[in-house]
Amino acid sequence: MCQLSKEKRMIYRFKIHNIILTVELSDSVLAHFNQHAQHSDASPEAGGQLFANITEEGCHWFVSSATGPRPSDHRSRFFFNPDRRIERREIKDEYEQGKHYVGDWHTHPQQSPQPSASDTRSMGEIFEKSIHQLPGILMIIVGTHPPPDGVWVSMHSSLGMALPLPSLSVPDSNQALPKTEVPRASEN
Ligand SMILES: [Zn+2]
Repeated sequence: MCQLSKEKRMIYRFKIHNIILTVELSDSVLAHFNQHAQHSDASPEAGGQLFANITEEGCHWFVSSATGPRPSDHRSRFFFNPDRRIERREIKDEYEQGKHYVGDWHTHPQQSPQPSASDTRSMGEIFEKSIHQLPGILMIIVGTHPPPDGVWVSMHSSLGMALPLPSLSVPDSNQALPKTEVPRASEN
C-alpha cells in the first residue's frame, strides 16, 4: 500500500491514467524554494531539478531534494535557462543516491505564480524527450507568497497538464475532523 508519512508536509494528489499519485514536498525542499524566491525587486529567476524517493508501487513521490540554481545557469528577472550539462550530472548523482528525477522548479516574481505558455510547452517537451518510466513530470513555480498560495504545482504528461485534486484534509492521528461539503462557487 502507498502510505503517507506521519510528518506534516505539503501534499498534493494527482489523478493520472486512473491512478492517484501522491506528491509530498519535504521541509528542506520548501526551505530551498523560499531561499531563492524573488522577494526583492533585484532577485533574478532561479530554478533547478526535483528528485524524489518513489515507492515501489510508484504512487507516492517524496520530493526530498531540489537542485539549483547553479553559477553557470543563465538568469535574469524574467528568465531562467539552466545549464543542461550540469542537469544531466545531477540526474546521475541523485540516481546513485536512490532518487529519481521527477520534474523541474523555477521562480516567478509573482505572489501567486501562474505558468507561462512556454513553461507549459517546455514541460510537455521534457516529458516526451526524457527517458523515464513516470506517468508524468512535475512543474513547480515558486512565487513570493508562502505556500500553498505562493507555490504552483502541476503534472505534465502525454495527456497535457493536470492540476492537483482538491486538497485532502490530512487526518491528524488523534483528531478526526467532521467532513463537510463546501459548495463550489460557479464560475459563470
Ligand atoms: Zn516560468
